[in-house]
Amino acid sequence: MAAKSPPSVPKTKSPGSIANSRDETQGQEVDWFSLASVIFLLLFAPFIVYYFIMACDQYSCSLTAPVMDVATGRAHLSDIWAKTPPVTKKAAQLYALWVTFQVLLYMALPDFCHKFLPGYVGGVQEGAVTPAGIINKYEINGLQAWLITHLLWFANSHVLSWFSPTIIFDNWIPLLWCANILGYAVSTFAMIKGYFFPTSAKDCKFTGNFFYNYMMGIEFNPRIGKWFDFKLFFNGRPGIVAWTLINLSFAAKQRELHGQVTNAMVLVNILQAIYVLDFFWNETWYLKTIDICHDHFGWYLGWGDCVWLPYLYTLQGLYLVYHPVQLSTLHATGILLLGLLGYYIFRMANHQKDLFRRTDGRCLIWGRKPKVIECMYTSADGQKHHSKLLVSGFWGVARHLNYTGDLMGSLAYCLACGGGHLLPYFYIIYMTILLTHRCLRDEHRCANKYGSDWKRYTAAVPHRLLPGIF
Ligand code: NDP
Repeated sequence: MAAKSPPSVPKTKSPGSIANSRDETQGQEVDWFSLASVIFLLLFAPFIVYYFIMACDQYSCSLTAPVMDVATGRAHLSDIWAKTPPVTKKAAQLYALWVTFQVLLYMALPDFCHKFLPGYVGGVQEGAVTPAGIINKYEINGLQAWLITHLLWFANSHVLSWFSPTIIFDNWIPLLWCANILGYAVSTFAMIKGYFFPTSAKDCKFTGNFFYNYMMGIEFNPRIGKWFDFKLFFNGRPGIVAWTLINLSFAAKQRELHGQVTNAMVLVNILQAIYVLDFFWNETWYLKTIDICHDHFGWYLGWGDCVWLPYLYTLQGLYLVYHPVQLSTLHATGILLLGLLGYYIFRMANHQKDLFRRTDGRCLIWGRKPKVIECMYTSADGQKHHSKLLVSGFWGVARHLNYTGDLMGSLAYCLACGGGHLLPYFYIIYMTILLTHRCLRDEHRCANKYGSDWKRYTAAVPHRLLPGIF
């Protein structure tokens, strides 16, 4: 998994450069379409999130009922707004405590999991080379943060009883306001920091357009001190650690309201927990993904990680509180298998590329020596470099089967909610747009980077996501 953010904005015109060169938008004029998309998202993304959550709160998760009510005059926007819970002191305290706790786990507790978990890579690790040639060090301790947080959650639920496990659901809308405040505060701070005291001035990107800079970010890796890395913390901590807790809270609420936790809720909890745990188990690998290697830190990541991810990626669990779907055994088994198969493809495809790149091709893929396309590219400083593209295993079946696996898993979460409403299917619709767009964006970058070598790869592996189709 990589970071969860609102739909991304098209990049400004690329000068046909290569990866790890100065960013392709550096100093570029932002075209009107990109600018319109930026302004649209800045203005409307918070309302999209609000709309989904309000639809559950006031209209039992119907996406059409609020529009119909307003269109037919049965309700006015002011009525809907009046019924929306405001921010409360309790929610503000809870949220502040949550973020502070995650900052402490991130900053004050060096990783100990790698000392006793075989195969887990944690502790101090290096990221990819930035466009300015810097290699940042990261304290990889996300798995530890996740484990401690969840141990405390279970200790509270079963022994300590400091708070009700439904606490997140019960404060869901007041917490939304707090998440928005943090999302905007951190994005604004990152913008000011980028202009006035950047961590690495050479890795900053200025397009000449204020709104574009605000949204897509100026600094590549903003940091406070040596270790507090904004991108890793916001991409990987308050939102993703919370994801599984939010689901647990929804399950607790379902039990409180309906007397049982349905198998659909169990499925959503299990499949999404596997995805989240995978993220933390592979946090070191994550340092080499597009989010960390290519995206700058602005509103797109800052607000997206604080608001978009925790609120929209958990819609299935929220929906099941209002609609406690109990699936037939056959249906539930089918969904479980789809989710596990998707996860397997996602993980193995990512693993194959990682292994291939780490060993420089000296490895076995599906029991055989991998087929390789040797590539050349030129970096911004004019130096020629050598690289390799894998043409075996999942990377020989389609060019982004890791995304396909991700989409299969996403579809499984949605299908667990049955066919009563569209709302829980938002995730698969959104992920399909996100990953298709990301696939095209990545391929455009690779084509610029590798030129005719990329053409050889696309000739050898003609399809992107679905063999024989796309
Ligand atoms: P990838 O892991 O697919 O990385 C793409 C890069 O891999 C390319 O830019 C290229 O980089 C290299 N590459 C491409 N083809 C080959 C090949 N055949 N052999 C070797 N290297 C190749 O992309 P992401 O970082 O976007 O995704 C990582 C994971 O995160 C994915 O599984 C995705 O599903 C998931 N994800 C999840 C999201 C969510 O919200 N749930 C959002 C986004 C991603 P180079 O320049 O090094 O050659």
